[in-house]
Amino acid sequence: MTARLIDGKANAAAQRERVRLEVAALGERGIVPGLAAVLVGDDPASQVYVAGKERDCQAVGMRSLGARLPATTGQDELLATIDRLNADPEVSGIIVQLPLPPALDPVSAQERVDPRKDVDGLHPENAGRLVRGDPRFVPATPYGCQVLLETYAIPTAGAEVVIVGRSQLVGRPLALLLSLRGANATVTMCHTGTRDLAGHTRRADIVVVATGVPGTLTADMIRPGATVIDVGINRTAEGRLIGDVDFDGLSEVAGAITPVPGGVGPMTRAMLLVNTLHAAALQAANRR
Ligand code: NDP
Repeated sequence: MTARLIDGKANAAAQRERVRLEVAALGERGIVPGLAAVLVGDDPASQVYVAGKERDCQAVGMRSLGARLPATTGQDELLATIDRLNADPEVSGIIVQLPLPPALDPVSAQERVDPRKDVDGLHPENAGRLVRGDPRFVPATPYGCQVLLETYAIPTAGAEVVIVGRSQLVGRPLALLLSLRGANATVTMCHTGTRDLAGHTRRADIVVVATGVPGTLTADMIRPGATVIDVGINRTAEGRLIGDVDFDGLSEVAGAITPVPGGVGPMTRAMLLVNTLHAAALQAANRR
């Protein structure tokens, strides 16, 4: 392997430590940030994710105020639960764990979250602020990708960044984030309608892949020395976690690369805590 390994696990630990210290400082003013995860039904993966978020909260001294609802919950009951959390001063941030059972509408649930508590950054008001160049909460995964690039001093200013994937959760907000003044990247967003994907990725200084398709990016698709950020999380038939890129091949050609596991995933969890801390601080400032 010749590429530098971008260690998301260590970086996430550093982020958590910073949050823990700031939570302790807020605690001296009687403020304890709280994160509420709304979990509907018994999807095993969602239960694992929410349990992880609860552990993360405890580790940094935040309250974890989950709302667990049965799979039979109706839309009105879900929205009433979100209303209750919106009104609860102990709740700084709210996330609606997806996927919801098929009978429930995730869009209206996300839009019901008070935008000042929307730590997933998915409410149209927060998405709009990111478009406007004045972000309040940036979705945790793109935020984590940006922090990894900053931490490893991989410049985005003037860089050609190619993002493969245009989802609301990852590709699209990351494209906005990296093209803001400050980050100053020249961003190309690719998707299934892109003609000649490799033609784009070969020109890039930084390639971010978030497709959900293993092997989307291979060693012949980048220029030597480029940075590869692999957002993907896929499970093989043998139960092994892999990303969306051919890690072994790319790590012989790339300048720097994130592993899976241990790359973007831990950063996503850490940046959710950063957003929750930010929410608590904003709410405290507004109460003064
Ligand atoms: P979505 O399915 O919502 O979006 C995937 C995007 O990739 C779509 O825009 C799709 O294009 C595009 N795409 C799919 N196949 C190709 C292809 N062959 N060539 C070019 N573009 C393609 O996925 P998410 O963004 O939610 O997630 C992407 C991956 O990231 C998944 O593996 C997911 O598990 C992982 N993930 C990881 C997180 C972490 O913390 N590490 C957090 C969130 C997600 P089109 O729009 O044309 O369909």
